[in-house]
Amino acid sequence: MSPALEAVKAALTLFEFTVDDAARATYGHDESDMGDFLPDLIVFPRDTAQVKAVIDVCRQQGVPLTPVAGRSGKSGGSLPVQGGVSMSLERLNRVLAFNPADLTITVEPGVLLKDLQATVEAKGLFYPPDPNSAEWCTLGGNVAENAGGPRALKYGVTRDYVLGLEWVTPAGEVLKVGKQTMKGVAGYDLVGLFVGSEGTLGVATAITLKLLPLPRAVMTALLPFASVTDAAAAVSQVLLEGLLPRCLELLDDVAIAAIADRFPFPAGCGACIIAEVDGGSTEGVFAELTRLSEVASRCGALDTLLAQDRDQREKLWAARRLVSPSLRAVKKFKFSEDIVVPRSRVPEAIARFKQVGRELDLTVATYGHAGDGNLHTNVLYAGPHERPRVDQALARIMEITVELGGTITGEHGVGIAKKRFLSLELSPAVMNCQRNLKVFFDPQVLFNPGKIFPER
Ligand SMILES: Cc1cc2nc3c(=O)[nH]c(=O)nc-3n(C[C@H](O)[C@H](O)[C@H](O)COP(=O)(O)OP(=O)(O)OC[C@H]3O[C@@H](n4cnc5c(N)ncnc54)[C@H](O)[C@@H]3O)c2cc1C
Repeated sequence: MSPALEAVKAALTLFEFTVDDAARATYGHDESDMGDFLPDLIVFPRDTAQVKAVIDVCRQQGVPLTPVAGRSGKSGGSLPVQGGVSMSLERLNRVLAFNPADLTITVEPGVLLKDLQATVEAKGLFYPPDPNSAEWCTLGGNVAENAGGPRALKYGVTRDYVLGLEWVTPAGEVLKVGKQTMKGVAGYDLVGLFVGSEGTLGVATAITLKLLPLPRAVMTALLPFASVTDAAAAVSQVLLEGLLPRCLELLDDVAIAAIADRFPFPAGCGACIIAEVDGGSTEGVFAELTRLSEVASRCGALDTLLAQDRDQREKLWAARRLVSPSLRAVKKFKFSEDIVVPRSRVPEAIARFKQVGRELDLTVATYGHAGDGNLHTNVLYAGPHERPRVDQALARIMEITVELGGTITGEHGVGIAKKRFLSLELSPAVMNCQRNLKVFFDPQVLFNPGKIFPER
């Protein structure tokens, strides 16, 4: 351990920390497939004062510091690429204030999303953002990545629900930004800046969220199609005809094949849409789903299989959540992208990504939140010998995305996974402005270094 790290360790004696090898291996890995980057030390603060103290000592000693939470991230944001200290926020996991009458809740960042959802739903309230990792991702990670999910189509993403933040900057200042009210425009929108800053501009230590009333009725249906082209066209048409379901998830042939042994897809199903509609009454929701079914049928849907109860709905969503892990059984390795294209370009995007796969002899799966144009295009591969072709495929997918007017990441963040593609999307002037913002908050560039921006 370097003298600087020894000094950090000595300063943290009153804190819970570990230098255990197994723990370092665990905290050096996330869901991005970007490799392992072991921290030298992991510290587990329990409150804002401890977070600030860790930040201060690391800055004073010149030691890199990286926030980490559920480690479900898919862009490598929590990986300490330059070693140093990983600061796990998992023990800041209390609900600080729950005000059902104001439709707000304030939580610490280590609260798991599934626990937050259960807490508010028990009071008839609703927190819509629903990344498919809800079982293990945290609100802090969601804020850092501006997480979305299937319901973003109707309800938007994390940023749309964050009213206020307690935020510790890399300089060790504890800021309270934003508001506790539904509206408020005093000063610059620092909440807007910090949400989605990928753990590079400081740490959220308290998060105030806006809630909604829980919809009284929800219905979910599986719509099988013969081809992914028909299914993708149906997604656009449904929205064009004035319907706004809360989810329109699409699974292509590769995704369906990956989970076919665990979910009974009907014969002839080469792609499908999972549609979910919510509202104030069962009759209204059923009427909307019926209209959706008619539109889809005109676009080639083979059937509309309506989940009959909560249990069947859950089985459908469980199948959807199985896609990502099951693709690893098809090929051991994969890169999971989260590009977004304008909705009308979804069919073209999917066709061109498949073409890239054929040309490079790689399996490309596409599934995800097609309703808002956000596609999880996965490039599957068997081992390192295929990496050069995989890298080529990823580059082509990003180029096609930007050419179609899209963005290289809709919810996973740039992290280390996509920084080599950032210049496809951001002009040099915008990139420079953003680098300047980073240096304004973190002049020593010690706070979660090596993320977002490509090396100069
Ligand atoms: C199976 C699966 C499905 C997924 N589905 C979705 C999906 O539908 N939608 C979606 O958006 N994402 C999805 N994800 C990606 C991932 O779950 C999200 O990015 C999530 O927000 C990460 O949260 P986490 O707690 O795991 O954070 P981590 O992975 O631990 O960290 C993510 C980033 O947050 C930073 N960070 C963590 N805590 C704080 C804090 N308190 N303050 C500041 N920065 C912090 C870290 O430094 C890092 O940069 C999925 C991932 C998996 C594995």
